Amino acid sequence: MLLTKTNYLLYKQCPQNAWVKIFEPKIYYSYELSDFDKMIMETGNEVDKLARELFPDGILIDDRKDNKITAELIAKKEKIIYQPVFFTEKFEAIADILVWNDEYNAYDIYEVKSTNSGENKKKRLEEYKYDLAFQFNVLNKLSIPINNTFIVRLNCDYIRQKELNVKELFDIVNLTDEVKSISEAVLEEMDNIHSVLKIENKPTDCSCIVKGKNSHCTTFSYLNPTVPEYSVHSISRIGSSKKKLAELIDLGIYSIYDVPEDFPLSDIQRNQVNVAQSKKIIIDKNELNKFLETIEYPISFIDYETFPSAIPRYIGYKPYNQIPFQFSLHVLEKEDSELKHFEFLHTENSIPDIHFIKEIEKVLPKTGSIIVWNKTFECAIVNDKIAERNNEYSLFIKNFNDRVIDLEVPFKKQFYIHPDFMGKTSIKYILPTLSPEFSYKTLNIQEGGTASETWNKIVSGNFDEHEIKEKSADLLAYCKLDTLAMFEIWKKCLE
Ligand code: SF4
Repeated sequence: MLLTKTNYLLYKQCPQNAWVKIFEPKIYYSYELSDFDKMIMETGNEVDKLARELFPDGILIDDRKDNKITAELIAKKEKIIYQPVFFTEKFEAIADILVWNDEYNAYDIYEVKSTNSGENKKKRLEEYKYDLAFQFNVLNKLSIPINNTFIVRLNCDYIRQKELNVKELFDIVNLTDEVKSISEAVLEEMDNIHSVLKIENKPTDCSCIVKGKNSHCTTFSYLNPTVPEYSVHSISRIGSSKKKLAELIDLGIYSIYDVPEDFPLSDIQRNQVNVAQSKKIIIDKNELNKFLETIEYPISFIDYETFPSAIPRYIGYKPYNQIPFQFSLHVLEKEDSELKHFEFLHTENSIPDIHFIKEIEKVLPKTGSIIVWNKTFECAIVNDKIAERNNEYSLFIKNFNDRVIDLEVPFKKQFYIHPDFMGKTSIKYILPTLSPEFSYKTLNIQEGGTASETWNKIVSGNFDEHEIKEKSADLLAYCKLDTLAMFEIWKKCLE
């Protein structure tokens, strides 16, 4: 078995998961990638391709299994090679970009990352050192001279002007000293991992058994077949109470239904467990009413969809700025009014900001509460960015942000707990529990990631006219259900 760079890095994160990936690929890949996951992969490919423009006229190695072409190109000191492939007896590495450096008579390695330079700066660079050290060691073993090793990532401060400036878009970090300083230790680690990753070493433990559900990877249930779906790992914030979780596991208690009555838990955790075990709904009418009284007519239930474009697509955008492309708005003027619906979807490949905000301004009541679901923070960020790019709307946007109320709060604060929520407060759990006649399952688009990716495909020209109509209808139906859901949930809270 050749140890690839990806598997080496995966092993460093979790040896058990790396084992499942290599020896049980059917299990590892049995979880269908969501459109959102696919979008992340596609983003990586786009960024990779664009970064090649920093080093134009290179030769691309298309076949990820063919190291012979790479060897031939290296032998003749080819100036620039994209995706060169290297095999040694034990290891396999594919670099992103290799650039011949005449001055040092050696190659420089450039590893392209689609991350933003502002994001977890130190932690990310720490991880990237190992990525480069793996490549450095493999090329060393093949006696390919290496001078410098670099990370190429998106520059979080870059603001797109009319044309995309590739040089300014990327931030190049020289990690040569750091990589060289750890290369020997990494080589030892690579040898060790190569020798321990064997089929007979099937993992028997999974350290996430004592971590909250958010830490679990998709192979958790394969490695822990006796742990039920609604387990103690789903108890609210149990991941931050490691001692409690470890105690439950030590006692052999996996199911939330088996947690003893006297087991010490926080109020929120105890409520969740009690509701699960008694199968009874708990409503704190007093607190719920206090929350509902803060909502004023006319009530606007709004939701919008955005696309986080890694490569700034429009003027004024920075990497990963969210592009707002759609909204749905349900308005209830007074208690006995008819519910009105407004919607907007921008399907042209042009900057949607001004159309988006103008349309909201046109249909949104000037007063009253604006109800969102778990988007208070996100809404403010998107709105503030729109205001930055469109100064004339800054007052309108400030007024908008000041009126926002998050309808998820009463569920987060447990003013309303239902056993079927299973400790979750996502609208996708609350709606079908409180109003089973409404369901996302009947829609072609059922979650935000798919909505983003669908819009991206529409404006990128992936669909013909007929498909654009169909996909636009899917997007409108999805966003409309989000705001109708809020209206229905609000009504249920009033009952
Ligand atoms: S659940 Fe956690 S410990 Fe288990 S394989 Fe996945 S990442 Fe590793």
